Amino acid sequence: MSIFAEMAELGHEQVVFCRDDEAGLRAIIGVHSTALGPALGGCRLYNYANEANAIRDVLRLSRGMTYKAAVAGLDLGGGKAVIIGDPASVKSEHLFRAFGRFVESLNGRYITAEDMNTTVEDMNWIRRETRHVTGASTFSGGSGDPSPVTAYGVFQGIRACLEVVYGSPDVVGKTVAIQGAGSVGYYLAKFLHESGAKLIYSDISDRRLEKVRSAFGGTVVDGDAYYGVECDVLAPCAIGGVINAATIPQIRAPIIAGAANNQLDDERRDSALLEKKGIVYAPDYVINAGGLINVAAELKGLPAEKAMADAAGIFDTVKRIVNLSRQRGISSTAAGNAVAEERINNVSRLKRLHLPG
Ligand code: NAD
Repeated sequence: MSIFAEMAELGHEQVVFCRDDEAGLRAIIGVHSTALGPALGGCRLYNYANEANAIRDVLRLSRGMTYKAAVAGLDLGGGKAVIIGDPASVKSEHLFRAFGRFVESLNGRYITAEDMNTTVEDMNWIRRETRHVTGASTFSGGSGDPSPVTAYGVFQGIRACLEVVYGSPDVVGKTVAIQGAGSVGYYLAKFLHESGAKLIYSDISDRRLEKVRSAFGGTVVDGDAYYGVECDVLAPCAIGGVINAATIPQIRAPIIAGAANNQLDDERRDSALLEKKGIVYAPDYVINAGGLINVAAELKGLPAEKAMADAAGIFDTVKRIVNLSRQRGISSTAAGNAVAEERINNVSRLKRLHLPG
């Protein structure tokens, strides 16, 4: 398929190809939509097998950011960037500053941030060339690690799902099984523990398990046994694709609500399987929007407390979307998409009114 045909299919405004051979830079910036505001999305560094894969990834991811920002009620559009290269060997000041200059050339239409294989330190290099970067360290004027805000949003989303299923958002005595005791998983465990939940963890890292268990108690379940564990909520906070045709038949929890991106292996098929089993699924891009809410606050110069307060709104958003999916008999992911599209259309319509000056 031609690039223009792919852009048309997914609704992209602009795709920018960036090259600087001396810096070893080959990057693609996808600006999916600026209908609600500047296109914000992380910069992923990945050794793509070929250019077509890199293009597909940037198009898919940037579109996802549009929906995420729209559902979260932010004045941001959707964008994403990919740098093609091996994270183990290509990273340098030169590379990230070269990328930063391309970001600057878009004059704020695209704002970058951390993503897979890019770090706070990399953002600090980019920041030397452009203001249009978020997620840099607090020393460099950024908001630092977004994980606590993401975890707080997931905590609120879990409470919303509990209300839908049990009639009360109270987590006291409820059991939540967290897959991935990493940055987000650790803080999620903290919020749940402080609110009286019982915790179960699964992680491939014994060190991470030890850290979270010694802080908040709880038990550990090994590998694939995670999916069939008896609990009220499965909270996948590790990797994508874990909710799939093989794992869904094992699931006994009535709720799936976690931070991991792209939890459903195949959105259409797995949504239908979950619906058939009567499992309430909080769409990942809705419940994990806390990180984006955090950078939105950073962009407006608002304090971390404001980001936390805004992330509390994920409670209402998740509840609205789960209820809409039940009313319309559609998957929660489709319901989330409908809410996003309605907001994008309404706000875009407002902009037809010419405001002089
Ligand atoms: P992280 O790397 O800090 O933690 C991931 C944890 O998962 C690690 O402890 C790792 O050992 C564990 N893990 C990896 N593979 C596993 C497996 N097969 N089974 C069990 N455990 C496994 O990452 P993070 O920042 O906590 O992010 C977790 C997820 O949430 C990711 O999917 C990420 O994309 C998503 N997310 C994170 C944020 C954020 O603010 N950090 C925001 C939105 C979405």
